[in-house]
Amino acid sequence: MNIHEYQAKELFDQYGVPSPKGKVASSPEEASAAAEEFAGSKLVIKAQVHAGGRGKGHFKNGFQGGVHLIESPAQAAEYAGKMLNETLVTVQTGEAGRLVRKVMVAEAVDIEHEYYLAILMDRATSRPVIVASTEGGMSIEDVAHDTPEKIMRQFVHPLLGLQGYEIRKIAAGLGLSGDIAKQFAKLLKNLYSLFIKCDCSMLEINPLVTTPDGRVLALDAKFGFDDNALFRHPDIVAMRDTEEEDPREVAASEFDLNYIGLDGSIACLVNGAGLAMATMDIIKHYGGEPANFLDVGGGASKEQVTAAFKIILGDPNVKGILINIFGGIMDCNVIAEGVVAAAKETGLPLPLVVRLEGNNVDAGKATLAASGLNIEAATTMADGAEKIVAAVSA
Ligand code: GDP
Ligand code: MG
Repeated sequence: MNIHEYQAKELFDQYGVPSPKGKVASSPEEASAAAEEFAGSKLVIKAQVHAGGRGKGHFKNGFQGGVHLIESPAQAAEYAGKMLNETLVTVQTGEAGRLVRKVMVAEAVDIEHEYYLAILMDRATSRPVIVASTEGGMSIEDVAHDTPEKIMRQFVHPLLGLQGYEIRKIAAGLGLSGDIAKQFAKLLKNLYSLFIKCDCSMLEINPLVTTPDGRVLALDAKFGFDDNALFRHPDIVAMRDTEEEDPREVAASEFDLNYIGLDGSIACLVNGAGLAMATMDIIKHYGGEPANFLDVGGGASKEQVTAAFKIILGDPNVKGILINIFGGIMDCNVIAEGVVAAAKETGLPLPLVVRLEGNNVDAGKATLAASGLNIEAATTMADGAEKIVAAVSA
C-alpha cells in the first residue's frame, strides 16, 4: 500500500522528521485558502498522485510540471486549476498517466543542497538498507545508472537496529558536519524508527535538503507499506486511497484474492501462487499474453471464486479465460460451482478453457458439464494453454 505526500507529512510530524508545513486541497478555492494560512512565506504547489517524477512530468492538457513555486493565494488557485482533474504523465506513471484529484500547498524553502535518502528492505540480505547520495533531486535514476559509485548503502542489522556509528558513517559520506550532521543524525534515527514501527517496505526522501539558514528538511516523501502487516496499523489503512489503485486490484483485495492486473488478453484463474506463475509462463510459451496473475488460494470459497470470475470478466482487455486448478487442498467442485454461479450472473461471452485435476475432480467436471455453459475441457496445462491461445487468436 502507498500513501500520498501530504499524508506522509503527518507521519513525519508524528515521528519527528522535519518537513515544511503543507496542506492538501481538492479545489482552487481550497488551494487559495491553504496558501492564506502560510501567508508571508514562499509557497510550492504539488500534484498529489502515487507516483514520483512529478516535477519533470507534464499534463495531458499541455501544462508542464506537477511541482511549481508560487507566490500568492491567487497563484495557488490558478495552478490548482491547471492541475486538478487533469492527467499527469511522469516517468513513473507510464503513458496512461494519473488523474490528479488533490494538490498540496506547502511552505517553500530555499535550498542549499539536495540529497537523496531512502530506507528499503533488501531481499538479498533480508535486512533494511539505507541508501543515500549527495546527488539528490530529480535525476536520481540517471545518477544510479551513470555514476553508481555516488550511491551509498548501509545495511542495518534488524535486531540491533540502526547504530550511532552507522549514522555517522552516512553523514560523513554525505559530507555533512557540525550542527547539520547532528540534525541529520536525529532525522535519520527518527526516520528509521518510523520505517520499522510502521512496517514500511520502502521510504524515500528525494530531495532531503539543507537550507541556507542551516536546517535539514525532508522536501518530498514516498512510502510503501508491507500489506501483510497492515492489520497492525488501522491508522495507516485509513490513509488508503483506492482511487489511486488499479480498480481490478481493489475489487480483488475486498475478497482476499491475490490478484495483479497485467496487459495481456488471456485471463487465468489458478490455485496456488507457483501454479499461477507457471500458468502465465505456459500461456506465453504458446504465444499468448496473460491478462493477470490470480491465485485464489487453497481455501477459496464459492463466493471468492465468483468474485474472481467477475473481476476477470470486467476487464475489457480479456479475450479468453483459462482456469487451471490442481486440487490438493482445494476442492475442484468449489471452483466449478463458483464459475457456474458467476457465469449465470454475468453470462459467458468469452471462450473458457478449464483444466481440473485432483481433489473431487469428478464432481467438478460433472458440475461444469451440467451447467450447459460453453466450456472447453483440457487434460493438461499445456493442452489448456494451447487451447485458450487458439481460441483467442481465432
Ligand atoms: P518529484 O518530482 O515528484 O520528485 O517532486 P519533488 O517534491 O521532489 O519536487 C521536485 C523538485 O522541485 C525538487 O527536487 C526540488 O528541486 C523542487 N522543489 C520542491 N519543493 C521545493 C521548495 O520548497 N523550494 C524549492 N526551491 N524547490 C523545491
Ligand atoms: Mg522528489
